[in-house]
Amino acid sequence: MILLNPGPVTLTARVRQALNTDDMCHREPEFAALTLDVLRALESVYDGGGEYAAVMLSGSGTCAVEAMLSTFASKTRPTLVVCNGVYGERMASMLARQGKPAASVTVPWAEGIDVAKVEAHLDAHPDTAHVAVVHNETTTGRLNDLTALAALCEARRVGLLIDAVSSFGGEALPMGDWKPLAIAGTANKCLHGAPGVSFVLARRDVLETGESHSTSLYLDLSTYYREQLKGWSPFTQAVHVVAALCEALREFQDQGGWAARNRLYVRRSTRVRRVLADAGVETMIPIKACSSMLTAFSLPKDADYTRLHDELKDQGFVIYAGQGPLAGRVFRIATMGDIGEAELDRLADALQAFFSRARA
Ligand SMILES: *Cc1c(COP(=O)(O)O)cnc(C)c1O
Repeated sequence: MILLNPGPVTLTARVRQALNTDDMCHREPEFAALTLDVLRALESVYDGGGEYAAVMLSGSGTCAVEAMLSTFASKTRPTLVVCNGVYGERMASMLARQGKPAASVTVPWAEGIDVAKVEAHLDAHPDTAHVAVVHNETTTGRLNDLTALAALCEARRVGLLIDAVSSFGGEALPMGDWKPLAIAGTANKCLHGAPGVSFVLARRDVLETGESHSTSLYLDLSTYYREQLKGWSPFTQAVHVVAALCEALREFQDQGGWAARNRLYVRRSTRVRRVLADAGVETMIPIKACSSMLTAFSLPKDADYTRLHDELKDQGFVIYAGQGPLAGRVFRIATMGDIGEAELDRLADALQAFFSRARA
């Protein structure tokens, strides 16, 4: 089965083999050494100098995002969430559950983030301490351009918290320019690891202070940071999944890092978009706004999502539905993971066949 959903991805043989590693106790030196390997590899995915430290925890991408907000978002000063999709809204829900003061600047899901609106909000609410935003909004596949937002945050001395779960390893993340306080990522999207571990890269000087705003014991990154300085973890880690992530990161570097992976995704996505354009299927947002790893397509009126999904699944491909109000109107195709040229050819044929029949 080839997974064309936005994570988890189809594993390479090399990463799958690593899952079958020897059993390990998470409190033994061999696991601490493995942890340190993974943390150093995560820190070297992007140029950020030595300014960012990686902290790893067991749980899906949502776990890393929630831990980031738990640890850094203030209990007394508001966090502003910039929303243009499901994942921005999810961050606002997390802050509400944590009982932390928060506000949202929301635009319709099909649109890009509105920095002027954020600026006006910060003018009106100068006590805002943090801004939280999604880099690649997986709801629509829009890669939010964070350059202007990051500059605004820097000028206002507001900490920028980024959900980079679906972009880390596949898109440019100019840490040195954006200077975020922290970014959250996961093993099983652009890094091609197995699901089960996620991570946050955060400013080392801030982690060093030991200060935490966490309302949760498990999701307090300051505890993880302190122990992971020597490779230890406060709680049981998904040890086999960590071994697979370590191998995935080696493979990632062997293949040329994030820029090479970005080129690979662009090649695959361009192919899929062309095939669908020829079949009369349009992208939901302009192609120049799309991320490399995921495209949302508008489902033609005469085509049924369930039939499309099931027919593709019969041929070995899993695609992804639209979320919320986009259900039944949109389908999504991700291009991460181990997908061969022959499989792309078969996918192109299957899509062509379905939509020519849907129109007939
Ligand atoms: C996938 C994803 C998440 C986390 O999803 P999990 O199912 O918890 O792994 C968070 N944010 C974005 C933008 C995502 O694409």
